[in-house]
Amino acid sequence: MTTDETPRNLTAFKRYKTDEEGRKTFTSIEQIKTEASIERFYDRYEQLAVLDSSLPRLTRTEHARYLETSLENLSTGYECLDSSRPWLVYWIMNAASVLGVRFNDGLLNRVVDFLIKCRSPELGGFAGGPGQDPHLAPTYAAVNALCIIGTEKALNAINRRTLKRFLAAVREPNGAFRMHVGGELDVRGAYCAISSAKLAAFSAEDEAKLFEGTASWIAECQTYEGGFGGAPDLEAHGGYSFCAAAALAILGGEEKCNLPALLRWAVNRQMAFEGGFQGRTNKLVDGCYSFWQGALIPVIQSLMARQQGRPEIMETALFNRFALQEYVLICCQRPSGGLIDKPGKPADLYHTCYTLSGISVAQHCETSRPPLIFGHADNELLPTHPVHNIPPKAVLDAYKYFLKHELIEAEHQEAFCNGNGTATTTSQEDVEMKERDGSRSRSETPGRDTESMSTDGTESSTELSSETGSERSSEERS
Ligand SMILES: [Zn+2]
Repeated sequence: MTTDETPRNLTAFKRYKTDEEGRKTFTSIEQIKTEASIERFYDRYEQLAVLDSSLPRLTRTEHARYLETSLENLSTGYECLDSSRPWLVYWIMNAASVLGVRFNDGLLNRVVDFLIKCRSPELGGFAGGPGQDPHLAPTYAAVNALCIIGTEKALNAINRRTLKRFLAAVREPNGAFRMHVGGELDVRGAYCAISSAKLAAFSAEDEAKLFEGTASWIAECQTYEGGFGGAPDLEAHGGYSFCAAAALAILGGEEKCNLPALLRWAVNRQMAFEGGFQGRTNKLVDGCYSFWQGALIPVIQSLMARQQGRPEIMETALFNRFALQEYVLICCQRPSGGLIDKPGKPADLYHTCYTLSGISVAQHCETSRPPLIFGHADNELLPTHPVHNIPPKAVLDAYKYFLKHELIEAEHQEAFCNGNGTATTTSQEDVEMKERDGSRSRSETPGRDTESMSTDGTESSTELSSETGSERSSEERS
């Protein structure tokens, strides 16, 4: 795999196609079939690019229309994701934000109202749909979506107190996290929990208590290949490896892992001919790993830079950023809008979010240099935060908002303890109780200063997946 920062000569790269060496297997047959379909796309692109040097184009308008239509009305094909509805919202919100699309205020307001209905007032956290049990995956998705929306109402919909209660309820004594009460243990849980806790600016004491032992448990999920499995002794997988590395980026504790082995595994998941990433060794290329593996690599670099005290490690991207953009822009765009896993697959919101997020990381991961854009300059996307996968400005705004919120809560608590405060009438829990009692008013927290609070978390200048609240499909395990 070349590391040159120039678009590939696609014809020359045909020499990297799979050689079966006379031994056909199910895997090799599928791999060769996939390469053949991708080769047709690359050949056609090369013919068209001779006539139009502005190709390939990111078809922004079509993707934006697909996202907005999906936010209003989903096809029956999404019925199976009834327990992952906050995910659908998040995928749409994040894909729109990297495209620089902001939906109108009325629509966003309705989205916030819907996510509030998914919140669990008793147990805390968010469920996959109204009336369902809370689950860490839709909690992560809802928190991310609300941070992207970024209005005061959206951020206020994240109830830190009950969120803390929920995270404590799914935590195991060894620091691992179950996806829901009594549910499965895996590394997604640890990532979803720490990511949500960080965005909600939990105090250092709360973080230390909730995540004691978590980094050590995550380290146990690293496999002989170098990547991480979902739990100890499972196969290395791109989605879980991202979750593990991103959780460690927030928590610390990377010294417990073998980072060079993880990096070696991750960079070898970029497919030599296709240009996109596979999720596991000997699997097919898949557009969603553009983010899971594409963001994993700079996250590992940041862990190594921190561990070794060498910030220069972050200066050079360690995967072929043009190749990834070639795969997504040439092979994964559906002409009528939405992006796909690989040629021949239908478009869906999950792949639309993670292919676009992957391009964004590829374009912007060398933060000290100008973005690297393949094709027309208009193909540039806005940056996404490689650990949380929401706009960097949304991360900062949410964090600042909740820090301020905590100070106000502490002041109220102190005043109440002194016998002259009104703390008991201002908590989010009371607001939720009023809502349950039929009052639709969502009063502002008295005393909150709104002056410096962003109402727009997305206008940044600058695998968990569909298998979340519900079981992951076998296809997405690829
Ligand atoms: Zn996929």
